[in-house]
Amino acid sequence: MEIISIPAQAALKYGQLWDGLSAKIKNSGTLFINNGVIALENSSLPVSQPVWDFSQATILPALIDTHIHLAFPEKEIFSFSARAQSYLTAGVGIARDGGTCLGGITTAVPLLLLQSHYALYKKGTYGSALGRAVSSLSEALQAVDKLAAAGAAQIKVVASGIFSFSSYGKTGAATFTAAELKAIVERAQSHGLPVMAHASGDEAVRRCLEAGVTSIEHGYFMSHATLRELAASDAYWVPTLSPVNAQLAEPALFAALTPNMRHVILRSLLRHQALIAEGAALGATIAAGTDAGAPGVLHGASLIEEILLLHNAGLTKLKALQAATSLAAQACGLTAAGSIAPGKKPYLLAVKGNPLQDLNVLRQPLALFIPAA
Ligand SMILES: [Zn+2]
Repeated sequence: MEIISIPAQAALKYGQLWDGLSAKIKNSGTLFINNGVIALENSSLPVSQPVWDFSQATILPALIDTHIHLAFPEKEIFSFSARAQSYLTAGVGIARDGGTCLGGITTAVPLLLLQSHYALYKKGTYGSALGRAVSSLSEALQAVDKLAAAGAAQIKVVASGIFSFSSYGKTGAATFTAAELKAIVERAQSHGLPVMAHASGDEAVRRCLEAGVTSIEHGYFMSHATLRELAASDAYWVPTLSPVNAQLAEPALFAALTPNMRHVILRSLLRHQALIAEGAALGATIAAGTDAGAPGVLHGASLIEEILLLHNAGLTKLKALQAATSLAAQACGLTAAGSIAPGKKPYLLAVKGNPLQDLNVLRQPLALFIPAA
């Protein structure tokens, strides 16, 4: 696995190319990079430009994980750079951080990290590990202004608690009111920032949709009626199957659960998978986010597992791939990446084989291309 820094002028020969959007794969050609962005298809460049020969490989957009926590787990000795590096080696060029109580993070690695800095949660409710408490709407709005000034890429709000692993269907209550959420969304929009909303339980998801958040994160236990609302809205849905699946798939985590918890978690996961299939059929826009840093969810490598989980839940391979490329970029409000088209930055991935036929080819990427700074 090579990490390649692409200069402003370059050419890349490919055997096949998937653009992040289309149901079709293109055969053998050359992709030109000009002035740091992907050039028109019929361009040509002076022969002196560096040329990478990936004529035996498939080129696709670099993968995007729309929901991670680089600061988790906290209880081990780690370096942010080493964690960021594990994304690159897994073929993930861009990751959106859902917040930490530490605030902003710097790494020495060219992973494009879209930071929330710290999430906003309502004082006295869930969220202390993810961010900072606000005790009034005016405090929340001030925090949005501060985060925007500090360079946050989006605002993360915690609109509910988490769902119970021991009592089926029970979720932490909705926290912010719809009116509060709407004011937060409007303030974020005034700074040009999207809002990612942690919401599980029907009431919290409903309030977030009413407020016009950019993305619903998790969305466990929303009702079918709310799912229809989501599908009809502009909101993206990041269902984060990985942290729940990990409880059952990771032997050490599974061993620590009581038989009742195993049953509750499995039932919750099955309900969520069915909801994803239903959402996809209704036209909901689903993006891939792993919640990496949660117990058993590895930084970097877990994105391919999330893609496979989305596919197993009922998304076509094309939709599952779009969920981690073009749709992921849209969910993050990122116009410069996520697909291969003129004007996009060259965040690219080379794999052996056709991912539209076999998602598992993503497991062993050949190279990740990152635009040189
Ligand atoms: Zn999270």
